[in-house]
Amino acid sequence: MDYGMIGKIEKARRYAEEPQRITLHTLEVEFRGDNDTYIINLTDAGWHCSCAGFAAHGLCPHVMTLEKVFKPMLKRPAMPYGHGQNVVSDVEKSTRYSHEKDRILVRAFTASFEGSNDSHELTYNQGAWTCGCDFFHSRHVCCHTMALERILVGMIPAPVTAVTT
Ligand SMILES: [Zn+2]
Ligand SMILES: [Zn+2]
Repeated sequence: MDYGMIGKIEKARRYAEEPQRITLHTLEVEFRGDNDTYIINLTDAGWHCSCAGFAAHGLCPHVMTLEKVFKPMLKRPAMPYGHGQNVVSDVEKSTRYSHEKDRILVRAFTASFEGSNDSHELTYNQGAWTCGCDFFHSRHVCCHTMALERILVGMIPAPVTAVTT
């Protein structure tokens, strides 16, 4: 039995219930809208979406959806409604979208993870993880990456690690 790993899986399960430990710094998402697929980025400069609504109003239902889905991990205020934005329709859409997580494909992100003793920096890029903690350094997986795999289930490809239940 791999007791070290079993302990980490237990910890990951607990951490996945505490998403406020995580702060997303950057994020890249492919978003399947009703008619088209859009690319959404979160950077130091804030949100950006490739859709026409965002270009016109500076906010769109796709970004509003991600603000809902990732709320505990964002640590930033929600974007103000844009001038001329159809707020009623976009609020309705983003509420519906936030229950349809298969629309969201997370391509990449950087994050910090507030662990029990220390804070760790994480990256994810198209299935490849890194974490600054010692366990990840030796095992290429850790309670932080496994917790995020649980939180992002359905929004990233199925994990290759043995996260069973
Ligand atoms: Zn958009
Ligand atoms: Zn780690």
